[in-house]
Amino acid sequence: MSGHDFDIVIVGGGPVGAAVAIALVGSGLSVAVIEARTGAGTSKDARTLAMSYGSRLILERLGIWPQLEPVTPIESIHVSQRGGFGRTLLSAQEAHLPALGYVVRYAGLQQAFGKALASEHITLLAGAEVTDTQSTADGVTIEYRQQTSVQSITARLLIVADGGASAGLRAGATVKSREYGQHAVVGLVETSQPHARKAYERFTPDGPIALLPFEHRCALVWTAAPDAVDSLMALPPTGFLEKLQRHFGDRAGRFMSIEARARFPLTLRYVADPVLPRTVLLGNAAQALHPIAGQGFNLGLRDAWELAETLLSDPTLDPGGDACLAKYRAVRRPDRLRGIALTHSLVKIFSNDFAPLQVTRGAALSLLELVPPVKRAFMQRMIFGA
Ligand SMILES: Cc1cc2nc3c(=O)[nH]c(=O)nc-3n(C[C@H](O)[C@H](O)[C@H](O)COP(=O)(O)OP(=O)(O)OC[C@H]3O[C@@H](n4cnc5c(N)ncnc54)[C@H](O)[C@@H]3O)c2cc1C
Repeated sequence: MSGHDFDIVIVGGGPVGAAVAIALVGSGLSVAVIEARTGAGTSKDARTLAMSYGSRLILERLGIWPQLEPVTPIESIHVSQRGGFGRTLLSAQEAHLPALGYVVRYAGLQQAFGKALASEHITLLAGAEVTDTQSTADGVTIEYRQQTSVQSITARLLIVADGGASAGLRAGATVKSREYGQHAVVGLVETSQPHARKAYERFTPDGPIALLPFEHRCALVWTAAPDAVDSLMALPPTGFLEKLQRHFGDRAGRFMSIEARARFPLTLRYVADPVLPRTVLLGNAAQALHPIAGQGFNLGLRDAWELAETLLSDPTLDPGGDACLAKYRAVRRPDRLRGIALTHSLVKIFSNDFAPLQVTRGAALSLLELVPPVKRAFMQRMIFGA
């Protein structure tokens, strides 16, 4: 450990930070996770996540997959645009996979990772918030507040997986951001017709709306301008359901009930380079994306997996040294940049009523529908990354 308290300290025990910690079990590297939450299952976060089949494979290797429940498979995805031609149906059968992806609760993921951290005896400093970090040539000092005391520990490598919550932990990084002027309303809706494991992604000029199969209901992600979201949140359930029906149409049946409504502001925020001296930014700390294509967690999980693979590939390397970090940067660059660009272009191209773009969108959806190799390549990219 060359005089440091740990080889690696991870800030943030969310799904991405926890994934790296678990992937490094048995590596011989000493790892500590610092997490601001006090317990594994205490999150009230209402969001559900659509994770790709590729993420399932990673979670299986980490031993998390069997601990996750409930999990609902997505066997097909109907993609369309309101007020324009063109639609496509993506199916697991065409992708030769048992499912295109799965819908899980974010809080369920936190819980499963929390249990795994505990059972693997990983050092977890819970209820501790990192307030400052200082890097030197051979290590990083991490200062954190736990209850009323301020303490510090040192490591050879600092992994920041704080979801982007603490701007101070990105000091020195070039952060790029784009405001979309959109917020998301999430909730669980009951529909008159069974979902048959089918998801819907519908593009509208106000923003995309997605309906994901989840247990016996559907998880809703409805994006709109912040003031429109103010009124949607203030509506009583009947008024909300009527508005949803008018906006979404009746392809999923009649909307009968809505529960667990919550809102999230949406922006694109990413760092130009996720590597800083003796530090790596991972998951949402490196790139927070619009949920339009359900890529955020999937990309973050691939960050976590690839970083662990890099660290494990040569145990003689200093984990926070330039050689190791340069290797990680190079390995992740294509997937990161393409994931960010794809998500951003989808928001820009699909969230407006500019007539020429409506034609282009219709043509793109028709192309996917009519040319199977193009569709398969697109599905492959969405499921497994670049
Ligand atoms: C409405 C919505 C829908 C989404 N849908 C999808 C989807 O369908 N598919 C998909 O792939 N992605 C989706 N995402 C994105 C997904 O939620 C994120 O990509 C994912 O949660 C990122 O995980 P993370 O571990 O990087 O960060 P987080 O989940 O934010 O976890 C960060 C952790 O760090 C801790 N922390 C923060 N600051 C500190 C500190 N200073 N000290 C110690 N601990 C700290 C926090 O308590 C937290 O536990 C969606 C996002 C939203 C908002």
